[in-house]
Amino acid sequence: MGIKGFQGTSLLDFPGRIASLVFWGGCNLTCPFCHNPPLVLEPESYPDLDPAGLLADLADRKSFIDGVVVSGG
Ligand code: SF4
Repeated sequence: MGIKGFQGTSLLDFPGRIASLVFWGGCNLTCPFCHNPPLVLEPESYPDLDPAGLLADLADRKSFIDGVVVSGG
């Protein structure tokens, strides 16, 4: 399963901290309240992101982000 989404900066997803978000396709929990059901249920509908490009984006942000949130869906 590939990496399907990236958000460079979030002030909400890591309480009290600035974070980048990485979204993997699929999730084996399928919560009924899922925030991103298309990515959980139909991950093949989205292209995979280039991991090297994503790591380069994270490296560019390392001076101002406190962490990386990894999520399914
Ligand atoms: S991505 Fe999160 S909310 Fe959605 S099904 Fe998986 S664990 Fe639940």
